[in-house]
Amino acid sequence: MRGEFALVGGVIFTGRAVLKGQALLVGEGVVRGLVPPSELPREIEQIDVAGRLILPGFVNAHHHAYSALATGMPSAAARNFREVLEQVWWRLDKALDEEALALSARWTALQCLQHGVTTLIDHHASYGVVRGALEIVQREFEACGLSSVVCFEISGRHGRAAAMAALEENLSFRPGPRGARLIGLHAGFTLDDELLREVGERVPDDVGFHIHCAEDVVDVANAQGQLLERLARFGIVRRQSLLVHGVHLREDELERVARSGAALVHCPESNMHNGVGSLDLVRATALGVRVVCGTDGLHSSMLRSYAAAYLLARHTRRDAGVGFAETGRMYTSTQGLARSFWPDSSGEIEVGKRADLVVLAYQPHTPITTENAWGHVLYGAPLAPVQMTISGGVVRYADGCWPGWDMRSITAACTRAAERVWARLRVT
Ligand SMILES: [Zn+2]
Repeated sequence: MRGEFALVGGVIFTGRAVLKGQALLVGEGVVRGLVPPSELPREIEQIDVAGRLILPGFVNAHHHAYSALATGMPSAAARNFREVLEQVWWRLDKALDEEALALSARWTALQCLQHGVTTLIDHHASYGVVRGALEIVQREFEACGLSSVVCFEISGRHGRAAAMAALEENLSFRPGPRGARLIGLHAGFTLDDELLREVGERVPDDVGFHIHCAEDVVDVANAQGQLLERLARFGIVRRQSLLVHGVHLREDELERVARSGAALVHCPESNMHNGVGSLDLVRATALGVRVVCGTDGLHSSMLRSYAAAYLLARHTRRDAGVGFAETGRMYTSTQGLARSFWPDSSGEIEVGKRADLVVLAYQPHTPITTENAWGHVLYGAPLAPVQMTISGGVVRYADGCWPGWDMRSITAACTRAAERVWARLRVT
């Protein structure tokens, strides 16, 4: 569906405030107005969402589309975090061919839409296809209607020449109209000083980095406890950068992150999944860190991640009084990332801004106000499926279908690509 239409009969959470009895008018890709239904132009098409909750499309601050074909992939049992990387991810990223890479990106983008995500910040690795990889990935994201920020993770794990090719890929990439870029770095422990120096010298001052930081103790140990100091020395800790995880950063390092203005990406389920510990969200927030949220390749549901972050904060602190305000603030900061990449996006439902919207199959059955809206999101919404996802004023997903996409043939193509990639893994 394109053109003008209005969502009527819904409860609107703009990201800041709850509006009731208002129609949401969409046209020319933007939110044209929030008006009483009686004031809608007579000819406008009306979509009655029957009391359901309308939210801004979600922003995912850290994902790995390249991991999409790993679901069910056989692998040797890993004894620690480094073995997980060596046995699963570093082998997979080398085994992807161009078609597998494109399908991974397409499938992930369609999953994002299914979960109401309209802006994706992806951290890409495919050392089997380096040159042109970001163009392939972002083209797929864009074809599905996502706004996306991409980067290629530079790492010394496959040797110097591969790392330099990854740097060139980051520097030479030119984003499309709904695209943006960061400079991707894997993590300190796979980047030597010479490599970081070269990266620091060649990346312009106004471009941010996207790097895993203190996810596991191996990253901290490699830097003899001076991880953040080391990254800062090469200019990586800057306002435009995303530092991912921060599980093992000390208090003084978190304060330094806060002063730098860089965002720290919390990926609660990924941390639990890898058994690496977890970021203390309450402490990081109290220290003034701008914490944002991502899914880290595990899945594409931000609602699920916010709910997990909330539970994990309480579990970590053994305190039933924390986590609510901190996750609410994290949501606001995550949505705000959209604004920092595109002036026509705000991460909120705002008149004149891009119409990135999600309608949840969640009908608030208790009073909902601006004050308690986050409680509805945390307790009521995560188990409700998405009914409709709209990006740029276009319906991209509705009632289990993706208009314009033949999911049966896409999943069949993914299965064939996964068989090919998995077979390659068995012989390499
Ligand atoms: Zn990651």
